Amino acid sequence: MEYSLELLEVAIMSILWALAALSAVFVGACFSHGQTGGGQDTRPLPPEMKLGYLTESPKRDDKVIRTDEEWKKLLTAEQYRILRNHGTETPFCSPLVDVKERGSFHCVGCDLELFKTDAKFNSGTGWPSFFQPAEKKAIWLRADYSYGMIRSEVLCSRCDGHLGHLFGDGPEPTKLRFCINGEVLVFKKREE
Ligand SMILES: [Zn+2]
Repeated sequence: MEYSLELLEVAIMSILWALAALSAVFVGACFSHGQTGGGQDTRPLPPEMKLGYLTESPKRDDKVIRTDEEWKKLLTAEQYRILRNHGTETPFCSPLVDVKERGSFHCVGCDLELFKTDAKFNSGTGWPSFFQPAEKKAIWLRADYSYGMIRSEVLCSRCDGHLGHLFGDGPEPTKLRFCINGEVLVFKKREE
């Protein structure tokens, strides 16, 4: 009896060591990924980043820069999680998904006009979707390799807040789909 318990202990320890070794290999792979060739990122760029949109945070006279503490005071916990921490809202939860009235969608962090209802369409994804921004320079794109995917992250050009992602499966005339979190948008109805 004592002998078999000892065997069991050896077996458990072997499994634990194997797991530790495996995770070390995994972590090593993560660290080395994209770091070959003297620190050059060799990962392929998302195709949407080659469409002429800004791919770096632009310098603007009206740039909004706040500390983390200031953002936390200004935003709700959910807005902070998405805008400042790269979060994603649960689909079909934003009341802005179904907005069809004419107007514009502004950044909750800095009030910059980002999108207009004219370019809004029903993508069926559960997130507010647009085929173009209000102005090309209202947003900028950054490569996002998280979750094993290659995506284009969409950011606000005034406060650099995370808005959502850009995909190439939208409708005419651009065939683009700006998939945006409604939580970080403020809708302003246009008075006719
Ligand atoms: Zn903003």
